[in-house]
Amino acid sequence: MYCKITDKFKDECGVFGIFGTEEASVLTTLGLHSLQHRGQEGAGIVSFDGNSFHSVRKQGLVGDNFNNKSILSQLPGKTAIGHVRYSTTGESKPENLQPLFANLAIGGFACAHNGNLTNTYTIKKQLVESGSIFQTSSDTEIILQLVARSQKKKIIDKLIDALNKIKGAYSLVILTNKKLIGVRDPFGIRPLVLGNKDGSSVLASETCALDMIGAKYVRDIENGEIIVITENGIESIKPFKKIPERPCIFERIYFASPDSIVGNKTVYTYRKALGEQLAIENNLVADVVVPIPDSGVSAAIGFSQRSGIPFELGIIRSHYVGRTFIEPSQTIRQFGVKLKHSVNRSCIENKKVILIDDSIVRGTTASKIVRMVYEAGAKEVHLGISCPPIKHPDFYGIDTPNYSQLIASQSNLEEMTKLVGAKSLFFLSLTGTYKAMDCEERNPKAPQFTDHCFTGEYPIDVSEILKINRIVNE
Ligand code: AMP
Repeated sequence: MYCKITDKFKDECGVFGIFGTEEASVLTTLGLHSLQHRGQEGAGIVSFDGNSFHSVRKQGLVGDNFNNKSILSQLPGKTAIGHVRYSTTGESKPENLQPLFANLAIGGFACAHNGNLTNTYTIKKQLVESGSIFQTSSDTEIILQLVARSQKKKIIDKLIDALNKIKGAYSLVILTNKKLIGVRDPFGIRPLVLGNKDGSSVLASETCALDMIGAKYVRDIENGEIIVITENGIESIKPFKKIPERPCIFERIYFASPDSIVGNKTVYTYRKALGEQLAIENNLVADVVVPIPDSGVSAAIGFSQRSGIPFELGIIRSHYVGRTFIEPSQTIRQFGVKLKHSVNRSCIENKKVILIDDSIVRGTTASKIVRMVYEAGAKEVHLGISCPPIKHPDFYGIDTPNYSQLIASQSNLEEMTKLVGAKSLFFLSLTGTYKAMDCEERNPKAPQFTDHCFTGEYPIDVSEILKINRIVNE
């Protein structure tokens, strides 16, 4: 094996960049802070001061590491990019933190990447065999190596050269000594938006980062588009054959911040509509609708409003524990669920409860919470999930585990109901999911989203990842 790639598809991240403003690194810190839900393992910023690049990358939260003047004074300059990283199973090595930086023959090049490449093994093998030395186990380094080796003269042409070789999901924010560059892969799987802060261009994974710094939303970067920001303005380059976009449906279901705007609506609105659809599809009689916080709150509001069943905060979430998934092992993850949630007995006792969450992955959260709710004296606990069963892993940058750990891949509805311990378990249909996304129906020939986690239809070939990691669907 030339490269160890098992940690590659485990991260989901947030990216940010700002061009030509005083306090670029402070604004980047704020932007990253608002994207913290996309990655809590580590954060980094690279700035450029007109002469030199400066880089600080730290494990841990943005607020804990970039909140003091002495760190920010290490990041001078009017242009900066930043990254928050989220990985789960083990590989939380400091060298994998981003932005990655390289001194290329034509100058400095810093890159922050959200998403995952799917042909990492083949390219890395070729690069290593022809002499490349890798410093990290991150697939993002492949992009740097390909740019460095391109024979083209201009940086943009070198980048296009590199992009033509890679496959997979990527939203990139890149910094050179003259340019801030944003790139979205041909399917536009991961998000990237353009904003403007008092005349300075901003790139960010989500609009919540623009709101945080008081920047105006300009537009989404299109799928397959490269945006080049210089002192002379903004240039848009579309180097790929245009194909219909397939953004990841799971961004709207789970990943993005509820206040971010996607397609003219807040993510919260879509999630509420998912809950409404769930209530339309499942006509239950119960005393209370209780969200599993925070992920199930928006859908539970929709469910409650549509069904007329009162909404109660029957589960309280501690805000001092991160997302369940950041725990590295299953044992600690189970423990984490207890740390994170407690029952508000007064809303639960002697009641017929409908619990709502946005998704079930391994089933850990659901089974713990159903048990807690029964222990608190509920008469009946029904569990509604505002998306279809997740039967297939993600390889495009969201951390979902392999088939063997996905409860819906291993068990049918009856078995899952038993495993989570609920009286009944119900999922939103795929059609209902698309309806909540404002699509009359899922276009079977050209789906409006990539929904591979429900359907197993991967728009970008993942056979290399399956083969190298010996992932089997059984
Ligand atoms: P699990 O406990 O393994 O079934 O995971 C389900 C819980 O994790 C739900 O509350 C989801 O909101 C949340 N979740 C779903 N997908 C992800 C993900 N990719 N990363 C982190 N958490 C997730």
